Amino acid sequence: MFRRTIKHIVGNPLSYPKTPNELAKVKITKITFIPACHIGYSLHEDFSTRVGVIHSIHIDKGQILISGIDGKLIDKHLLKLVVPSSLSEEWLPPKDDVSPYNFKIGYLEAKKIGIKYIQELHTRTVSYYGANRVRYTKTCVPRVSNIFIKSLIQVYLPILTVNCEIVSRRHQLTMCGNKHEIEVLESNAGVCEICGKRLSRKRLLCNSCGKVVCAPSFLGHSYFCEICGKTICKECTYWTRKYLLFKKKVCENCADKLEAKGKKVKKYI
Ligand SMILES: [Zn+2]
Ligand SMILES: [Zn+2]
Ligand SMILES: [Zn+2]
Repeated sequence: MFRRTIKHIVGNPLSYPKTPNELAKVKITKITFIPACHIGYSLHEDFSTRVGVIHSIHIDKGQILISGIDGKLIDKHLLKLVVPSSLSEEWLPPKDDVSPYNFKIGYLEAKKIGIKYIQELHTRTVSYYGANRVRYTKTCVPRVSNIFIKSLIQVYLPILTVNCEIVSRRHQLTMCGNKHEIEVLESNAGVCEICGKRLSRKRLLCNSCGKVVCAPSFLGHSYFCEICGKTICKECTYWTRKYLLFKKKVCENCADKLEAKGKKVKKYI
């Protein structure tokens, strides 16, 4: 899980001499258990008109999650995190770190709300041609009597607040998950920490300050130290004159060493 967190923040960056896993420190700072109702269902229905069947639904292992507090539908991506054995067993942090909420929605109400969602979820508008070759559309709404609720279980979804420190940079993420699988709900990662643009191409992890930035390119947001090869962002880059016209870009350590030898070194920006 810690590795996944780091991966989420830095991606697969150029990083030298240290790897992202060596530079990052991950800590869970808060766990909140959100009550939820897991509903398993099946639904079988054929929709037909005079021309025959125009749409059919055959679901044996449908499942949805609804909030145990306000009954709202919970993102389906979180379904995979609900394992048969209660989730809360996986995370047993010290009591004072945990804020539990109690269920405000009972089984009967959850069932009623769930059926409504399932009905909406499988409502489709389909078009078909009639015998007269005219195109018609029809909205197929599953009948409540065809929705069979197979199971209804109260679970707690652990929502984790996670801090990740990379050298001097701190990231905070909100995730839901167990030790094997996590789903990131909220984070500030994925953008270049210099230009603010979404990082879609290669990225670089600055081994001086920990910023994740656009990889070396004409943009000039990052470089390799020309002496030791360290990956550095523009803000951690120093330069010294190379021949008459060229600048040699170096990291802070190498800049210090050059200065000690009497070379003139400047901060790049
Ligand atoms: Zn950038
Ligand atoms: Zn930097
Ligand atoms: Zn260097």
